Amino acid sequence: MPGPGSYLVGEEEIKEVMDVMESGHLFRYGDMDDPDFKHKVYTLEEEFAEYCGTPYAIATSSGSSSLLIPLFAIGSNPGDEVIVPAYTFVASYSTIIFAGFTPVLAEIDESLTLDPKDVEDRITSKTRAIMPVHMLGNPCKMNEILEIAEKHNLVVIEDCCQAAGASYRGKKVGTMGLTGGYSLNVFKTITAGDGGMIITSDKEMYEHMFAIHDQGHTPARTGVQVGERNILGLNFRANEVTGAVALAQLRKIDLIISMLQKKKQKFKELISTGEGFRFRSLNDEAGAIATVCTVIFESKEQADAVCKALGTDTVDHSGWHVYANMEHVLHYFKEIGRPIKQGSFPVTDDILSHSVNISIGVVDGGLGAGWGLNIHSTDEEIEQKAEAFLKACKG
Ligand SMILES: *Cc1c(COP(=O)(O)O)cnc(C)c1O
Repeated sequence: MPGPGSYLVGEEEIKEVMDVMESGHLFRYGDMDDPDFKHKVYTLEEEFAEYCGTPYAIATSSGSSSLLIPLFAIGSNPGDEVIVPAYTFVASYSTIIFAGFTPVLAEIDESLTLDPKDVEDRITSKTRAIMPVHMLGNPCKMNEILEIAEKHNLVVIEDCCQAAGASYRGKKVGTMGLTGGYSLNVFKTITAGDGGMIITSDKEMYEHMFAIHDQGHTPARTGVQVGERNILGLNFRANEVTGAVALAQLRKIDLIISMLQKKKQKFKELISTGEGFRFRSLNDEAGAIATVCTVIFESKEQADAVCKALGTDTVDHSGWHVYANMEHVLHYFKEIGRPIKQGSFPVTDDILSHSVNISIGVVDGGLGAGWGLNIHSTDEEIEQKAEAFLKACKG
């Protein structure tokens, strides 16, 4: 069961897709004067950039592409390191590795995002970049992270895959670093099944990333620019069908977030009488998108008992997002002679073993958020879930 946008796929998406299908023009490029060219991808890029308050956006094939492309663009020398949290989706690590960098994991804090102090402690002469991950719709402590990056002359590439629509001190995530990468996968805020977006305000970086995403071409091409290219690229393009769905979803994003924020608010109020837990800290209360409600229990025993009663798991057992559960990542670190294992990040381990993710809009067992609400939950259902949670807390 997926993210909130997928629950709201309806007439608007159908209309946009039919527009493309009836024209028969599925490729993202075309002649703007051709009435059969519906330029959904261009429109998506324009509206997404505008929504984020930044000049440039590139539609891509996935969130993974949207992280890989900027990493390719900044270029790696052997041994260059990128600092990334120990709690994130595997793609944060794999893109760093595929782009030729070495990931250096850092601890999270009770916001379940990067602890800036720990980031600074892990900087070496090899560090090139920081990849803050806005986990579970919660923006990172960007002021601190940007300050550290500036002091040490590091690039910041924001992983916004779980945080479309989130903002920090009035700025959309992805606009504070050099680039921000978003995912349109089915488990995210808005979706086209798969797909991604990259944003930046740096023109040179935009053109470089655009070229990497499309065989070395410049934006807005109408033909093949033979003889004019000096950057090697690959194909990470989006097509018009993806663009059409994503466009309809983007136009629902504020509605989605306001629906989730109301439901979360109500749920939090209802369970606030419970004992033995606190809510995860939010680095920007209004800017968080409320896809998940994370509670942190004082005792591990109570966390385990509550999960058992509700049929869910503490976050450390949620599988996909915890470094210690990624056998391929552990294998990689062993191969490069920097082995890590459960216990290597004791602060992260401790927080995650006490934490439970309750779904509000993203219903995803792989995130530990298989239990809770969804975007269609009624007031009555919210009350029932809150009651079940409080009962589980009492034991
Ligand atoms: C989903 C996700 C990605 C990758 O996005 P895809 O569209 O699945 O490639 C990267 N980072 C994080 C934090 C994610 O949640």
